[in-house]
Amino acid sequence: MELRYFMPTRVLLGKGIITKSYNRLKTFGDKAFIITGRNSSRKNGSLNDVIKALELANIDYVIFDEVEENPSLETVEKAAKKGIDEKVEFLIGIGGGSPIDAAKAIGVMIKNPHLNRDTLITTEKLESIDLIAVPTTSGTGTETTHFSIVTDHKNKTKKNLGQETFAKLALLDPSYTEGMGLNTTISTAIDALSHIVEGYLNVNANIVTDALVEKSLKLWGECISSLLSGEINYEVREKLMISSMMAGIIIAQTGTSLPHGMGYPLTYFKDIPHGLANGCLYKEYLNVFKERDRVENIHKLMGLSSHKELEEILEKLIKVEINITKNEIEEYSKAMIENKAKLKNHTEAITYEEIYNIYFNSLIK
Ligand code: NAP
Ligand code: ZN
Repeated sequence: MELRYFMPTRVLLGKGIITKSYNRLKTFGDKAFIITGRNSSRKNGSLNDVIKALELANIDYVIFDEVEENPSLETVEKAAKKGIDEKVEFLIGIGGGSPIDAAKAIGVMIKNPHLNRDTLITTEKLESIDLIAVPTTSGTGTETTHFSIVTDHKNKTKKNLGQETFAKLALLDPSYTEGMGLNTTISTAIDALSHIVEGYLNVNANIVTDALVEKSLKLWGECISSLLSGEINYEVREKLMISSMMAGIIIAQTGTSLPHGMGYPLTYFKDIPHGLANGCLYKEYLNVFKERDRVENIHKLMGLSSHKELEEILEKLIKVEINITKNEIEEYSKAMIENKAKLKNHTEAITYEEIYNIYFNSLIK
């Protein structure tokens, strides 16, 4: 057996964890750069808690609060310039995947100030300044992955930065997700589920990732009735946050697979939130697998009675309306068949026609 496992992030979870951890912040430096989105971190209390903890620890800070959904290289460059001017020593990314992924890319640019938005994505191995991640969605798992997904407007696509940008510390407080609307809760939860499943149906799956899959699918399965009813209490919020964080550990080992590659154009061109963009392809994606044993295991691990039941749940949760033409599907399918990075994680050979059919049957038929 060959086994590879790497996860260098310290994860601390609990109500009030940021205030409780203020002493740890001192080890990161004297000046923090807080990276966040425009609104939500102010509303859910996470930004305020981070500022309080920094003040308790006597650490200076500056804030960049302009990260948009699906952060662009332009935003990353703008924030990095500010960070360099302000001589920040470490980063605190607060928010969903967008601000935390942006913070990862900003950290690389601050550490390598000769880079700009056109040269940041490179095969050269680059270092970053330290990052603390404070997730406020339960979906991307970016707090435990090395991925940083940025939007490249020049090439009209989303790309992974391709550096080892693991957070040094992840502080998870499920109460920040309590005020999140049902649509975002579902979309992000579907993202976490897709990470678990794509990490399971993956050439890189191993005994450790499978163990994480078993537990995280069970936790996710325990949240289904709440996601369907919309009545989501703290206990469920906590389960979603843990399964999302575990899903991050899984894909940090395995990478994601077809639906993530296929979902990017739906987000870029059709403005479909990341989780739903993958999720709307899931029924068909699961159907193309020739080796059924592992697919059949998924519903069992989730505590469901049949694959059909899983399909019905996904249908109820994932409601996506897309105006899309056959020509567009052809373009997206061509791009996917050239996306070797994602295809290599899929366990079977797949043809252009099969990819086209996943899109077509999911979005038009
Ligand atoms: P997001 O794009 O970070 O945020 C989506 C929306 O949710 C924003 O309007 C945000 O508001 C709001 N929001 C965030 N936290 C909230 C809360 N607690 N309550 C209410 N609203 C809240 O969403 P995301 O799904 O977490 O991240 C998606 C991004 O992550 C995509 O770019 C995707 O490609 C990437 N991703 C990364 C990885 C990885 O491993 N690095 C994995 C999967 C996906 P504000 O803008 O005001 O903050
Ligand atoms: Zn994802």
